[in-house]
Amino acid sequence: MKYNRIYNFNAGPAALPLSVLEEVKESFLNFAGSGMSITEISHRSKTFDEVINDAVLRTKRLLKLDDRYHVLFLQGGASLQFAMVPMNCLPDGKSADYVETGTWSTKAIKEAQILGKNINIVASSKDKNFSYIPYDVKFNNESTYVHITSNNTIKGTQWARFPDTKGIPIVADMSSDIMSRVFDPKPFGIIYAGAQKNIGPAGVCMVIIREDMLKLIPDNLPTMLKYTTFSNSNSLYNTPPSFSIYIIQLVLKWLEETIGGIDKIEAINKEKAGLLYQTIDSGDFYKATAKQDSRSLMNVTFRLPSEELEAKFIQEATKNGLGGLKGHRSVGGCRASIYNATNMEGIRALTDFMKNFEQKNG
Ligand SMILES: *Cc1c(COP(=O)(O)O)cnc(C)c1O
Repeated sequence: MKYNRIYNFNAGPAALPLSVLEEVKESFLNFAGSGMSITEISHRSKTFDEVINDAVLRTKRLLKLDDRYHVLFLQGGASLQFAMVPMNCLPDGKSADYVETGTWSTKAIKEAQILGKNINIVASSKDKNFSYIPYDVKFNNESTYVHITSNNTIKGTQWARFPDTKGIPIVADMSSDIMSRVFDPKPFGIIYAGAQKNIGPAGVCMVIIREDMLKLIPDNLPTMLKYTTFSNSNSLYNTPPSFSIYIIQLVLKWLEETIGGIDKIEAINKEKAGLLYQTIDSGDFYKATAKQDSRSLMNVTFRLPSEELEAKFIQEATKNGLGGLKGHRSVGGCRASIYNATNMEGIRALTDFMKNFEQKNG
């Protein structure tokens, strides 16, 4: 392959579109005629303003967000959002509902509890090792928000349809499936996503927050932990992770102009995951770990007949230019992360290798 690149199935940081990386490389020493690298220019310059404003505009267009939504770029990863959400948007005396569907939602719950917030775990799939999405949830009418993880990166499950919360704002950790499929944003009060899975490099977290959620924020929070600090300054209160924001802008431009929007990438993502699951389901050698109605289109988790064969599979795949197929260290097995930047060619290379490996070892 070009530049000796491999087919990259890493979970995060993950593959980026090659054309984006080439554009970064081309413009790296002299950005937009400035005579400086993007990493050398002021975040207060007109040049950088154009970058961040374009990233915000494209996000709003791609996700069809109305004027009530602010698009912010924060640091601290999705992990800081586990704490910032309840600090900002769960006033004392109020409660929130949380759905527990895996490692990341468990961490979100833990941070809310550390803060002494009043939360209800209204549904959990822990009883079956987080292998499914608990679609049937009863929410508490008086809850301030409902927190879900839209795609469970480690367990390989995904909400195929979002729950009806009867008007209670949904707060969603969409780190591993933002911009991968069409959805109605209206029920969502907050959407947050670490960029390094599906929209850019590490170092920045996208937060989309609706006006009514901003009204819940108490005065006595540290400035850097308050959403309004960033919504009032276009994410420029302090020095932002400008290089990461620039790459997000390019990824969103690629998504809009080269791919043609979210509906187009969703069709591609369905085709990709479809072929991979079909290969897994075609015999008894590979076994998908997630329940059928909860299977992720982004992180495809599967097992082989033994741990020895899994180790051999991962090793031989790597030799064949297929990287990142080892499952998360907490669960073992295999995982192919197939975010937006992974194309059909990569999926075919993987499924061909899988069929071949099964023939030789099955
Ligand atoms: C990776 C991931 C996180 C953690 O993101 P950081 O940016 O490393 O803090 C949180 N939630 C989900 C769903 C993830 O996939």
